[in-house]
Amino acid sequence: MNWLPLLHRSNDVKFIIFGGGQVAHRKVQTLIKFTEAITVVSPELDSRLQALVSKGRIQHIQSLAQQEHVLVGYRIVAATDNAKVNQQIASWAKALSCPVSIADDPSHSDFIFPAIIDRNPVMIAISSASESPALTRYLRNQLDAALSSRIPQLAQFTASLRRSIRSRFDDSKKRQQLWRTLMSSAMPNLVLAGKEDQAQAICDDVIAGKGHNGEVFLVGAGPGDPELLTLKAVRLIQQADVVFYDRLVSPAILEYCNSKAEMHYVGKAKSDHAVPQTEINQLLADHAKMGKTVLRLKGGDPFIFGRGGEEIELLADQQVPFQVVPGITAASGCSSYAGIPLTHRDYAQSVRFVTGHLKDGSANLPWSELIHPQQTLVIYMGLTGISHISQELMAHGMSSDTPIALIEKGTLPEQKVYTSTLADISDVIANNSISAPTLTIVGDVVRLHKKLSWYS
Ligand code: SAH
Repeated sequence: MNWLPLLHRSNDVKFIIFGGGQVAHRKVQTLIKFTEAITVVSPELDSRLQALVSKGRIQHIQSLAQQEHVLVGYRIVAATDNAKVNQQIASWAKALSCPVSIADDPSHSDFIFPAIIDRNPVMIAISSASESPALTRYLRNQLDAALSSRIPQLAQFTASLRRSIRSRFDDSKKRQQLWRTLMSSAMPNLVLAGKEDQAQAICDDVIAGKGHNGEVFLVGAGPGDPELLTLKAVRLIQQADVVFYDRLVSPAILEYCNSKAEMHYVGKAKSDHAVPQTEINQLLADHAKMGKTVLRLKGGDPFIFGRGGEEIELLADQQVPFQVVPGITAASGCSSYAGIPLTHRDYAQSVRFVTGHLKDGSANLPWSELIHPQQTLVIYMGLTGISHISQELMAHGMSSDTPIALIEKGTLPEQKVYTSTLADISDVIANNSISAPTLTIVGDVVRLHKKLSWYS
């Protein structure tokens, strides 16, 4: 290990940066967030540095005029585009015992610049010891995306909680135990979700030694491709103690769950309701009441043909805190990955999502409303009823040559797209072994598939 990460009190450090170009500007950009004591030494400045000088944010001198001793007490950054000049600056700095950083020359530098994630007061510095700036940037972006922007609020909340716990409990072991309970409770997430009052209620219960509620996350897992998860979904998935998931959630997405999480499959395949709906609703509430962080992971979007509403109704009735995270619904995911825009100025000005689930052999849909021209029809759960549905659409006046697409396992590597017409779709089903999940799209937009298809 060649580098020791330490945090310096920023208003005590003063910098002199040599260079007036892009590299110097990059260093200034990093430092200016922390200190006002920045002087740039260069005969010329690029326009961005010039603008900072004009605003009084940094000082500028054109040259040291052989007065190198002025460097004493400063940290020096050599960021000119001339390696020899940088070396000269470094030797002045060393002679005067000033810490120096030379751009692109870590082996002669006393300090280097990390990539920073700033969630004031929380600060994360990432370094690869200057060996791979591209990797450092990559990691910074990954972590930055995964960390909530409300960490400053959480820092404030926990700082005030710390003061209150310190004033009430002398015993440091007791304090440590309280913090363990608090940080694994729903408190952090409630603060991150902007629900400070609910978070405070949990803290009060924990401090009073009472049981406390956990929280339920109702999260949309999207149609299958894990990269279609939202950042929030990934963050919450990783935090759950208990997970209840459906058949539609792909195994690759389950990989994101904490390896210690308790996993429960609650079915949802047609005629395979592993656990009845009312029981699922109750299980979510019961586990949250044990203080657990519960993840209800559902395919697509929980509020689109997902019964998400029913599951959180019970939680609302029983005052269990919950959050809902939308997911990319099958209509969006499958249409994108099949190259079938759901609306298009030339073909469709509206789109309608319906369920094709058959009850007593009939889909029981408002057929005359579905045959509007310039409207795309997306049918969820319609695979077994597709012959019936296409016949009804034709019987109610939709043209028999209306294009129709079946998208099987959309967005997954196994995705298959079948296109046909209303008249012929029954043959397509009969001649291919198409399996669930399959989404049906009806309308002129399906004509675009041939040209716009990109995923296979
Ligand atoms: N809440 C989900 C829909 C649940 S209903 C959502 O928003 O997507 C289940 C139906 O969704 C399936 O019968 C199928 O029609 C459709 N579906 C879900 N994922 C799919 C996928 N990857 N490919 C094709 N259809 C899918």
